[in-house]
Amino acid sequence: MTDRTGGPLPKPVLDPDLLSRCISCGFCLPACPTYAETGDEASSPRGRINLMRALQTGDLAPDDPTLKEQSSQCLGCRACEPVCPAGVEYGQLLEQWRDHQWRGHRMPVLARALMLVAGRRGLFRLLGRLRGTPRTNVAETSAAASDEASLMLGCFERVLFPRVGRAALALVPGLTVSPAQGCCGALHAHNGDTATGERLAHRMGEDLPGTIVTTSGGCAAHLASVLGRARVRELSDHLATSSSYRPPGELRVDGRRARVALQDSCHLRNGLGVWTAPRDLLAGIADYVELPSAGTCCGAAGTYSLLRPRESRRILTAKIDEVEAAGVDFVAAVNPGCLRQLHTGLRRSRSRVKVVHLAELLLMAGENRCPST
Ligand code: SF4
Ligand code: SF4
Repeated sequence: MTDRTGGPLPKPVLDPDLLSRCISCGFCLPACPTYAETGDEASSPRGRINLMRALQTGDLAPDDPTLKEQSSQCLGCRACEPVCPAGVEYGQLLEQWRDHQWRGHRMPVLARALMLVAGRRGLFRLLGRLRGTPRTNVAETSAAASDEASLMLGCFERVLFPRVGRAALALVPGLTVSPAQGCCGALHAHNGDTATGERLAHRMGEDLPGTIVTTSGGCAAHLASVLGRARVRELSDHLATSSSYRPPGELRVDGRRARVALQDSCHLRNGLGVWTAPRDLLAGIADYVELPSAGTCCGAAGTYSLLRPRESRRILTAKIDEVEAAGVDFVAAVNPGCLRQLHTGLRRSRSRVKVVHLAELLLMAGENRCPST
């Protein structure tokens, strides 16, 4: 194929097959948090896909202010995917869009800095060791060798929330823990560097033997998109489908069964279709309370809370009001970003409700104790 001057056509920015699937029906509009917030067609999935098409055809230049704004304003929550009758893979389109839109000097400085840090395997190994990275239980691992599975520690998670990995290993003691592992590349893929995102995911696949079990919904979805669904299990999915898992006990508060809600991980729910597993596990240890917006983004959205703090805070404030109204003791999270975001919101509102990773809550139920944070 050649252009009008006889030269080769430039490589398209977005995969034409993916881009052509949208039939502009608008079924996705009610599911989109940014459209709900603004009522602006450009802030909807359909509007953004039309912007991508304009970028693809050259009708809009990459520096067009609407393109810049909308590639950044989108949460990347993928709530538009499960409701789409045409099977539009919006998450993939967004990654390709940002890969072009945020290339070079156009990449947000903060995102670039985080990606640089996340790429330092040695640094995370050292910090993880200082924070108490869980270690493989050799006896348990050799007993489970025929069904090999590895625990992914996460890059920022192992430093910010080291108890999560320890709880996961206590719940599934047969998991292998490779201390050499780095970042899975989800951060890069979601922030305009898909090549590094894929490279890091492949490296993770080489470093971790067997099934990769992760406590992060966002990392699970990214790894599954690169390594294949069969290689990756998010922890709740892994536990809920394990024949050997039994509810570890009951979570009690003030002498009664605890009331627990869940904040879904957007990528786990919308990307991998995993949403009943964490609910079933929580219902096994406590009275489960469904938040009206449990399946809607909390505003963390990877780097969104850092790059778009005002919008993120607005989303979070509504979420915290809902948590308070539900009268729960705990909110469980299945992704470190959601954990950090909800923790910030609950602390800011001086709430008595605690946000805890699902793995920790299950472990606490087994040990018959309440969390201290
Ligand atoms: S993304 Fe899907 S649901 Fe939304 S307008 Fe396009 S085809 Fe319809
Ligand atoms: S990813 Fe989320 S915010 Fe972005 S268009 Fe889809 S539903 Fe809207």
